[in-house]
Amino acid sequence: PLEPWRIGGPVVKGFGRGSKVLGIPTANLSTEGYGSLLSEHPSGVYFGWAGLSKRGVFKMVMSIGWNPYFNNTEKTIEPWLLHNFDEDFYGEELRLIIVGYIRPEANFSSLQSLIEKIHHDRKVAEEALDLPLFSKYKDDPYLKSST
Ligand code: ADP
Ligand code: MG
Repeated sequence: PLEPWRIGGPVVKGFGRGSKVLGIPTANLSTEGYGSLLSEHPSGVYFGWAGLSKRGVFKMVMSIGWNPYFNNTEKTIEPWLLHNFDEDFYGEELRLIIVGYIRPEANFSSLQSLIEKIHHDRKVAEEALDLPLFSKYKDDPYLKSST
């Protein structure tokens, strides 16, 4: 098991292809200030809890890394909140507590296989977060930002 770690900040614009190309929106966080934290943790898929001050706390599954399928040149932090929102929330303060690791970053031969893998990751995350070992963190005070 992983020592939980916490990151937060306003939701920023990404490349605009999470939801549009994949059907999987990811609320990007700026990596600014998280250089050393990110270098301590391998690229890959993680899960945990996400807090949006005005909306609540939600399960999330998150990619950290270079997104090899898209040949990114910068590392990104991209949590998919496992909830259906009826509007976007760019600019809102997002707090994450990362409690588990699912798999390393991988390359995929097709977009279809990437999408299937992400949906499998989502199932793994949803089930794991119901375990007491991980569910207890949804009440972590860090998830409720002061703003
Ligand atoms: P971008 O490239 O700008 O990150 P995306 O296509 O990844 O665009 O869409 C992400 C945006 O969609 C988020 O910033 C947020 O405002 C919105 N959004 C709506 N529902 C969700 C969700 N369930 N999880 C994450 N972001 C969501
Ligand atoms: Mg995104």
